[in-house]
Formats: sequence, C-alpha cells, structure tokens
Amino acid sequence: MRQSKFFMPTLKEAPADAVAESHKLMLRGGYIRQVTAGVYAYLPLGYRVLRKAENIMEQEMEKINVPEMIMPHLLPATMWQESGRYVKYGQEMFRLNDRHGRESLLGPTHEETFTEIIAKNLKSYKQMPIALYQIQTKFRDENRPRFGLLRGREFIMLDAYSFAATREQLDEQFDDEKKAFEAIFERCGVKVHPVIADSGTMGGKNSTEFQAPAAIGEDTIATNESGTYAANLEMAKSIDTFKQDPEETKELKKVATPDCDTIDKLADFLGVPSTRIVKSVLFIADDQKVLVLIRGDKQINEVKLGHILDADEVREANAAELKEITGSEKGGVGPVNADWADKIIADETVKGLYNVVVGANETDFQFENANLDRDFKVDEFADIRTANEGEPDPVDHEPLKFTTSIEVGHIFKLGTYYTDTMGADFLDNNGKTQPVIMGSYGIGVTRMLSAAVEQHLNGQGIAWPKEIAPFSIHLIQMKMNDDEQTALAERLEKELSSKYDVLYDDRKERPGVKFNDADLVGAPIRITIGRKAGEGIVEVKLSNEEKASEISVDELTDLVN
Ligand code: ATP
Ligand code: MG
Ligand code: MG
Ligand code: MG
Repeated sequence: MRQSKFFMPTLKEAPADAVAESHKLMLRGGYIRQVTAGVYAYLPLGYRVLRKAENIMEQEMEKINVPEMIMPHLLPATMWQESGRYVKYGQEMFRLNDRHGRESLLGPTHEETFTEIIAKNLKSYKQMPIALYQIQTKFRDENRPRFGLLRGREFIMLDAYSFAATREQLDEQFDDEKKAFEAIFERCGVKVHPVIADSGTMGGKNSTEFQAPAAIGEDTIATNESGTYAANLEMAKSIDTFKQDPEETKELKKVATPDCDTIDKLADFLGVPSTRIVKSVLFIADDQKVLVLIRGDKQINEVKLGHILDADEVREANAAELKEITGSEKGGVGPVNADWADKIIADETVKGLYNVVVGANETDFQFENANLDRDFKVDEFADIRTANEGEPDPVDHEPLKFTTSIEVGHIFKLGTYYTDTMGADFLDNNGKTQPVIMGSYGIGVTRMLSAAVEQHLNGQGIAWPKEIAPFSIHLIQMKMNDDEQTALAERLEKELSSKYDVLYDDRKERPGVKFNDADLVGAPIRITIGRKAGEGIVEVKLSNEEKASEISVDELTDLVN
C-alpha cells in the first residue's frame, strides 16, 4: 500500500477531551474519528487492525468447531418481554417504535435472539451440544461513554452462545470457549487474568471475566506475582464464591434489585401495571440468606419473577422465622398485609438483622433459591475482602498486588434462565422434556483493541502486537527525488509485499513528518531507505526497541523471514 494513497489523517495533538492514551493515539494516528458521543468511524488504519483481530477470532472459533453466523441488530421488544429483560435492562437499551407503533430495540447483547432462533429449534438431545457465534455491532446507551473505543455506545462484540443437554456438556463448552478466548487474547497480544465475576443482568450462576491490566482501567483486580491468583475486587466485596457442585446446587439466579423506592418503579421493574401492586418489601440478610416478601395479588407471580414469593410460599418457607422477627402471632402464618409489612420495616430487630432494600441502589442484589451452606463457600474471597496490597493471597500466600484493569471479555454459564422463561425445550435421552442449558461468551472486540494499545505504549506511539499491527512492515523513503532510493524502495516493496503487508511511505514529506507518522502506525518492523541506498544498506528499527541498526538488503531478507 502506497502511503500517498492511504487515508490517514494524523494530528499533532490529540483533542483536549481525550484522556486515555489509546484514545489519544487512535485519534492522532487517524485510526478512528468520533461521529457522535461513543460512536466511531473506523478509518482505514483502524479497520485494518479490527479485521486482523476478527480474523484471529474466526480462526480460534473454527478450531473449537463453533460456526459463525449473524443476527439482526433490530429486535422486537416481545422476546425481551418474555425473558423479563425488557424492563430490567433499563436505560442502557436503545428503544424505538416502528411506524405501526411496535416497540423495538437495538441489540445490546443477543441471549434472547439466540434462544428464540437456535434453542427453540433444538428438539432432541441428539442435536446437542452445539454452539454458534457472531461478530457484530452492539448498541448500549451508556451513561458515560468515554475513553474512545473503551466505552462506546456502539461497539463491536464477538458473542458466542452454547446449547447443551446436560450440565457436563455445558461445563465442557465453557472450558472450550475459555481456552479459545485465552488463545485469542494471547495472539492479539493482550495480557489477561480470568477472574470470577458478577453476572449482572445476564442471570446464571457462574461467570468469568477476562481482565486486562492497564492504567486507564475502570475495574480493580488483585493478583499475585506468579499469576496463580487473580480476583476482581468489586466481586470480592460483594459476594462469596459459588460451590462448584451442579448436582446439589439449584440454578441460582442473581437478580439485580433496582431502585424500587416507589410502587411505580417496582411495577416498572416487574413489568406489571402498578395497580397490581399494593405494597412491597424486600429484605436481604447480611449473611446472604434472602427473604423476600411481597404484598399484592397473586398475579405478580405470573410474570415469573421467581424471586418474588407469594404469600403462601412465604408462609411455608419462613413461618417460624417470620414469627420470631415480627413478634406477632400472625407473623408468617396470616396473609402478608400492609400493616404487617410496615411493622417489619419499623422493627428495630429487623433493621439490625436485615439490609432493607426498599429504595436500594443499583449495586444491591439478591439470590433466588439460595442457601448459604449449600450454595456458597466463603473461603477464597473472604480473605481478600478486607485485605490490603502486600498481604498474602489466599491460594499461594504471595503478596497481593492491586491493579486497575479493563474487562475485555466475559463468559457465562447461563443455565436455563432464558430457555425457561422463553420456553425452549428438548427431549432428553429418557424422552423427558427439559429446558436447553445455555452459556454465553463475549469479547469486546473494539474495547480489546484499545486495551492492546494501552498495554503496548512505547513512549512515542504504539508498538502493535505482531498479529494485529495494521501493517507488518513500514518502508520509509527519506528523499523522494533520489533515484537510487526510489529504485531500492520499489524493489523492496515488491519483494516484501508478496509475503507481508507493507506500507510504503512514498509521500513528498520531510523525514521528521514521516517518522512521527511511523510511530503512530506502529508497524513491528520499520525499514528506512536513505543515504546508503546506493550501497544496498538500509536502516531497520523494531517497534519494541529504541535504536535502529544498519543492515544490508541481503541480511534484511533473512531478518524478515
Ligand atoms: P462493563 O462492566 O464495562 O460495562 P459489561 O459487563 O456491561 O461491561 P458485558 O455485558 O459482559 O459487558 O459484555 C461483554 C463484553 O463487551 C465486555 O466484557 C466488554 O469487553 C464489552 N463491552 C461492554 N460494554 C461495552 C462498551 N460500552 N463499549 C465497548 N465494549 C463494551
Ligand atoms: Mg456495562
Ligand atoms: Mg462488567
Ligand atoms: Mg460483563
């Protein structure tokens, strides 16, 4: 590629509002341009990097026999109403109405679509296990889009979905995807730590995040020196690890409890008219045991929010406990009524025992069907919950190091949340109807590229990891009106281009301008054709080294091979 024909609008200075180094360099190098807040155009240089990363992803998914496909961006609200996420996803969802007034949305992620289109077509255990993936633009109306591609409102994600007939199959699929993702990060030159993570609005009992340490990261992880321990601090502060015992453990769903301080907000969260709700109270015990009470009519239960118990269930499950708490003969045996609920809220013992989440903030959550002894163990994170940097990690007792990091990927064992709520069943090997067991696996492709830049800054510009560099070799001719230089440059361009992607700077620009731009292109190998071209000598500089060295053209062929 001739640089005189390549569109690469470089800037001397990054705009003042760019904070992250990756954002600054991608703007300065002409990789991307902002179109509107959190929405970017990928210019030729940026698009080359993107395509290289996508190619690697395609190869690694092929290796684990997961085929690629593509889902639409424009989705109907109906699927999301079925899963219960239409309301739960909240303001981050881009919503629109079509001309007939039908509610639609732009996909922020595709669990519902894959459940509808794939899981519902799996009729027999014989068709499983199977998984599919896509690399596609997602839309999330982030409250604070920032740091360039790190937090966009439109961004590219690789999202894979797995479908299994048994828990064992899901475990295997999860391991396969995890290994494929690790291979992808490795080849893209992004150093990551897998950490146990919060599943957010995805549901499901078990998820792992891939965290890439970087100065600009919005998350904090704790690691040890030898890499045998890594944990997400946010997670450590909020939850205990799950016991990995699928036999014993019922499907646990972590459900965000949004700001439900008014009946209207609660109704919104439940997706029911507010007239159906008379009064509600939610409690979360300190020890994670969940007690949820709701007063209202039974129709609330019909919206299938499992964590909301009706009066009968409350009575059955917690009769003794409620009696104790309320100190009322009625407590737990009579129907839940408004007076009773008020009494509980006001009760000093209850305040001491329970975190009352009426008016909870968005970081609160609860588990349905959770049982402390059965479903949680308190060892691993309990230790670092109060730990400081330098204290021993709970596994190998090496000093803990706290680092900011970027969530570049997130994989989930979803279980049957979507297939239950949306009705995707199959016949198992005993001829019994069962819900399909799902997993979902995502990499923020564009975010990962920013993370790669953040981890490969070399002072002047970007030292791109070899496999995702926009060009492998950058040929720079110092003087365009020197015939010897032109002859050698054109010869090298021709020879090297048969094997590598080569950018040839044939512009009539001063060397200073060319070198500055070359720092922004960040090709792993830079070859400068200057004064000694007549003797067949060029200068070679590797992007991860400070100094250039002179080399003969013959030796060069050895070097690049
Ligand atoms: P975050 O915690 O940063 O908001 P998330 O947990 O909401 O991310 P997931 O739903 O787990 O994101 O989506 C899978 C992956 O998509 C993330 O691990 C991340 O790499 C990427 N991603 C999520 N939101 C964005 C965004 N706004 N811009 C770019 N990439 C994103
Ligand atoms: Mg998010
Ligand atoms: Mg997250
Ligand atoms: Mg996530």
